Amino acid sequence: MRILRSRGDLAALDELRGERPLVLVPTMGALHEGHLSLVRRGAVAGPVVVSIFVNPTQFGPGEDYAAYPRDLDRDLALLAPLAPAAVFVPEVATMYPRAGGVTVHPGRRAEGLCGAGRPGHFVGVLTVVAKLLGLVRPDVAVFGRKDAQQCLVIAEMVRDLMLPVRLVDAPTVREADGLAMSSRNRYLEGDARRRAGCLARALARAHGLIAGGERDTAAVVAAVTQVLGEADRVEYAAVRRLDDWSEPARLDGPTLLAVAARVGPARLIDNLVLDITGAGVAERPLLGAGDEA
Ligand code: AMP
Repeated sequence: MRILRSRGDLAALDELRGERPLVLVPTMGALHEGHLSLVRRGAVAGPVVVSIFVNPTQFGPGEDYAAYPRDLDRDLALLAPLAPAAVFVPEVATMYPRAGGVTVHPGRRAEGLCGAGRPGHFVGVLTVVAKLLGLVRPDVAVFGRKDAQQCLVIAEMVRDLMLPVRLVDAPTVREADGLAMSSRNRYLEGDARRRAGCLARALARAHGLIAGGERDTAAVVAAVTQVLGEADRVEYAAVRRLDDWSEPARLDGPTLLAVAARVGPARLIDNLVLDITGAGVAERPLLGAGDEA
């Protein structure tokens, strides 16, 4: 497991470019089992480069950039048993060497949901992901389904800017009560930690209703919002068709059901990605058949 810090260090990756695809797993560190699952998923395809970089440009004013947990020694200890080929740990000055540089303007799928509540967030995400793809030049990049809109916005960039990389989305890894693992879960204590489970409970309620035949979007959103009442503030409970990002009045076809809520000091997100037919409902990947690697 090589630790690469500078652009020059990345030349070491050329030894890894061979018959098997080179795989990038971008993270902001404070690793947990969700991140490790992406590394394992990537390793099925080929040698894995994990990047650890807390990207300042995707945090808005008043968000938690300064407080975001950073513990490189712990992250490296968690990665060691998985033996990724390399870990890329750049400084901010390496990724952003000059002020006022080019940024990437997101496409349609940045509209609504987190795009509405976090202005500029996806510009920061796309800009750093484009830089990481340019620096590492992976054949495959793995992203978590937990950040569904982020994954879709990145897939749109790769498609529209014709970037030569294949994307894979990996399933959400959860705590025992269903809470999606997140680096921000460490902000949760006591009662807030218990109430944080309401996002997963709300999605489970929606899944149950849809499995029972409910196809009215407003009825499902109302039930989800009711369960989210345990949160301190609901930011959104949204339904979007995956094909054209429209808000359907009736549930049918590949659909994203996404929620965001504030619980104590943490802003939490979660979602379900569903294939809905007249006959039933099943979870599905966000991208293609989900087995692109
Ligand atoms: P982050 O470090 O939060 O920027 O996340 C890095 C990558 O890990 C992103 O692709 C996330 O979607 C993914 N990820 C974060 N949490 C989870 C989780 N609970 N399950 C699966 N993937 C996750």
